[in-house]
Amino acid sequence: MRTQKLDCLVIGGGPGGATLALHLAQRGIGVALIDHGRAHYSGPFETVLASTKSTWQRMGLLETVKQGLAEDPLRHGAIWGSNELQWRQDEEAGLLLRRGVFDTALRATARSAGAEVYEACRAERGLRGWQLVSESGETILLQPTLLAYATGRAALPGLPKNQPVGPETTAVTVLGGPAPDDRGSAVVEAVRNGWIWTHVPDEGEASAAVLVDRELLKDRKAEDVIEEMFADASGPANRLRDWRVAHANDATMWNRGVAADCLLLGDAAATIDPLASQGVEKAVSAAEHASVCIVAALEHPEWWGRLRALHSRWEHGLQAAHSRSANAFYEVESRFAAEPFWQRRQVSAPDPTQLAGGQVLRRLATVQTARVLMRHGPRIIEVDGAVNEVTGEELARISRVPVAAVLGLFQEPVTLANAVSLAGKDPSLFVLTPHEVHEAIVQLHMRGWLIP
Ligand SMILES: Cc1cc2nc3c(=O)[nH]c(=O)nc-3n(C[C@H](O)[C@H](O)[C@H](O)COP(=O)(O)OP(=O)(O)OC[C@H]3O[C@@H](n4cnc5c(N)ncnc54)[C@H](O)[C@@H]3O)c2cc1C
Repeated sequence: MRTQKLDCLVIGGGPGGATLALHLAQRGIGVALIDHGRAHYSGPFETVLASTKSTWQRMGLLETVKQGLAEDPLRHGAIWGSNELQWRQDEEAGLLLRRGVFDTALRATARSAGAEVYEACRAERGLRGWQLVSESGETILLQPTLLAYATGRAALPGLPKNQPVGPETTAVTVLGGPAPDDRGSAVVEAVRNGWIWTHVPDEGEASAAVLVDRELLKDRKAEDVIEEMFADASGPANRLRDWRVAHANDATMWNRGVAADCLLLGDAAATIDPLASQGVEKAVSAAEHASVCIVAALEHPEWWGRLRALHSRWEHGLQAAHSRSANAFYEVESRFAAEPFWQRRQVSAPDPTQLAGGQVLRRLATVQTARVLMRHGPRIIEVDGAVNEVTGEELARISRVPVAAVLGLFQEPVTLANAVSLAGKDPSLFVLTPHEVHEAIVQLHMRGWLIP
C-alpha cells in the first residue's frame, strides 16, 4: 500500500470542494480531492446569476469549465404577488450549469493545476490516515495535515448535526413534456402550497423544481400533492404533460457550526434557500475564503481552531444575508398569506430601526477587546478587535468599521445618538460616515454584544 503525506485532504468534489482543491494547488499546497461520484443534483441544470460571471472570469473558471456552462437562453419570468406573469426586463443573461458535466470539468481543472483528484472513490478513515482504493485498484493511505469537508447536504458520521434555520422544505424534481408555446422560458410561480420553478428549454423535456413543506408530504403521495399544485398554477407547470417525479432533495436552510477537527465549506457548512439561485456561487466563493484559511493554518497550526470558526462565521454571514433577501421576496406574496407554507416563511427579520437614537446601550460584560483573526486579501492577519469570551466568537470589522474602536465608545452606557457623535472625535472612526458607525452599532446590538 502506498502512503502519501499531504497538506490538505478535501472530501467532496462539487463546486465547493473542487474550487478549494484548485485554489490550494495553485498556491503550491499539496492537496488531494476525493469525490465518491454519487452526487444528487437538483435537476438537469441549475442557473447562476449574471453577476457571478465576473467572479468566475477573475478565477479563470469561465473558460475552463465551458463544457458545463452556457449563456442562459431562456426568458425569465415570475407569477409572484399577483396573477400576472411578469417577464424580467433588461437583465443580462445568467448562466445555465449542466451539473455533473460542470462539476467534472471543475475537478479536471483542479487536477491540471496539480491537485491529486480521486473520482468514484470512497475513503475510509482509520487510525493512521485515510485509506482509499483508486480507480486503477491501487490502495493508498493518505495522511493529511488538514482536512476539509465539502460534501454538500449529506449527513456524515463525525460531522456536527445540521441545525435548521428555516422551515423543513423538500424540493421535488419533475420532468415532463411542455406546451409548445412555453418553449424558451423559465418561470417561478407561487401557489398555495409552495412554489414551482419550471425550466422549458427550446428542445427536450421541461423540468420543474417543486418546493413544498416536508410536513405536507408526510401523509400524502408526492404525486398527489404536485398534481394539486400544478392545477393551482397558471404558468408552464400547469401545462406539463406526462410528467414524472425524477427525485426529491432536502431544501431546508440549516447550518452546522464548527466541526471538531475539519473545516466545513459550501453546503456542508450552511445552506441557503434555492430561491436565491446562488448556492453554487456561494460554494465557489466559500472555497476562495477557505483556501486562505487553510494556507494560514499551515503557517500557524496554533490558529486552526480559530480559523475554522472564522470560516464558519463567514458562511453564516452569507447565509444570513441570503435569508434576508429570501424573506423580502416571500413577503411580496400576499395572495396566500393565510396558507401554512407562506406563514412559515413570512417571518419578518428583526427591524434594526427599532433601535431608537435615544436608546441607552452598554457593552456585554463577556465581550473584551483582543487581537483577532481577519482576512486581508490572500492572507489572514491578527488585528485589534473583540472576542466574546463565552462563545469564542471573534470580530475585527463590520464593513469598514473597526469593532474595537466602536466598543471603545461604550466604556460607560451611552445613547446610540451620542455614541455616533462621539465617533466623530475618535481618530480611528472620524473618517467614516455617521451612517457606517450607526450601522455597526446596530449590528453589534443584533449580535447581542451591545445590550440595553
Ligand atoms: C432544489 C434546488 C435547486 C437549486 N438550484 C440552484 C440554482 O439554480 N443555482 C444555484 O447556484 N444553486 C442552486 N441550488 C443549490 C446548489 O445546488 C448547492 O448550493 C451547491 O451544489 C453546493 O455546492 P457544494 O460543493 O457545497 O456541494 P454539492 O454540490 O452538494 O457537492 C458535494 C459533493 O460531495 C460529494 N460527496 C458527498 N459525500 C461524499 C463522501 N462521503 N465522500 C466523497 N464524496 C462525497 C458528492 O458526490 C458531491 O460531488 C439548488 C439547490 C436545491 C436543493
